Amino acid sequence: MSSPGKNDSATGHCLCGAVNFRIVGPLRPLVSACHCSQCRRFHGAPGAYTAAAESDVIIDGRDSIRWYSSSPDVRRGFCMTCGTTLFWQEIGAKELDIVAGTIDLPSGLKLARHIYVASKGDYEVIADGLPQFPASSRG
Ligand SMILES: [Zn+2]
Ligand SMILES: [Zn+2]
Repeated sequence: MSSPGKNDSATGHCLCGAVNFRIVGPLRPLVSACHCSQCRRFHGAPGAYTAAAESDVIIDGRDSIRWYSSSPDVRRGFCMTCGTTLFWQEIGAKELDIVAGTIDLPSGLKLARHIYVASKGDYEVIADGLPQFPASSRG
C-alpha cells in the first residue's frame, strides 16, 4: 500500500505541457482499463482511468483543453496542441475520470480490471490475470 496521503497530492500534465493539473483530494487508486470502441480510437489503446472529484482537480491551461462529446451524455477532454487524451466525464457528474498515463510517477495507482472487453481490438491480448468484464464492471 502507498503511504497515507500519497494520492492526495498527485500531479499530471499533457505531453506538451500546455495542460497541467494537480489533485488536491483523494485520487481513486484502482485503475480500470476500458477496451470500448470509443476509447480504442480516442487513445489508440485501451483507456486506463483513475478518477477524482472534479472540484479537487486544479487545472492550469484549461484554455488548451478541447472537449469532444463522444455520446450525448459523455465528454472527453484532450490537449488541442499535442493531442494528449486527458479526461472523460459524464455530463453533469461531479466526478472526473482522469487518464492514468497523464499522472506523474510514482502515481500510487494500480491496474485493477478490464472493462468492455467484448469490444476490444482483435489484435489485443489480455494476459495479466485481472478481472475482465464484457461491458461495465457495474454489470
Ligand atoms: Zn499538450
Ligand atoms: Zn471506453
